[in-house]
Amino acid sequence: MSGSGRVFVVAGPSGAGKDTLIKEVLKDLDAHLSVSATTRKPRSGEVDGRDYRFLSDEEFDRLVATGQFLEHKEVFGRRYGTLRSEVEEVTGSGRDVILEIDVQGALDVKSTIPDATLVFIMPPSLEELEARLRGREADDEREIITRTGIAPEEIEVGKREFDEIIVNDDVSKAAGELARIMGR
Ligand code: 5GP
Repeated sequence: MSGSGRVFVVAGPSGAGKDTLIKEVLKDLDAHLSVSATTRKPRSGEVDGRDYRFLSDEEFDRLVATGQFLEHKEVFGRRYGTLRSEVEEVTGSGRDVILEIDVQGALDVKSTIPDATLVFIMPPSLEELEARLRGREADDEREIITRTGIAPEEIEVGKREFDEIIVNDDVSKAAGELARIMGR
């Protein structure tokens, strides 16, 4: 893939701080943050086309049937997918792309694009993870339990399969590590 942009996949448990770290890094680095499609409902403040493409099940099915996803998965009972256009058009123009997706989706991307760098964002502890999820007040209790419940399994996969692991105990230090990994 010489001459084309690189693919970085950032995954890790919900609440580990992926969003914050990516936004920090994008202040100084030029890369495209891929906008995924999802069938979940927008949270307050989320904008269609910027945070996600919010689709109905039927619309999502149509994109699956026409082969427009690089990968797609069901996460917490909702469907999420990375559009090929979000990756191929960007890397084709020489720009790097960041995918913020779940751990299983990350492994699928690696098998399709072996050059992709998988970066796992690790919370300092499971207790801290739960506290962060409660603090952001975006999810109801049932969702918090689901999200914290799968974290140990995600961490196992991250340790075993990912290229880089960043412990997010300090945002500026962790963002510095991500910037170093993505630097040219
Ligand atoms: P949230 O609903 O909190 O925005 O995201 C829930 C989970 O879905 C997160 O772990 C997020 O990384 C993952 N996710 C978001 N977009 C995609 C995608 O396109 N593909 C996959 N496999 N997971 C995604």
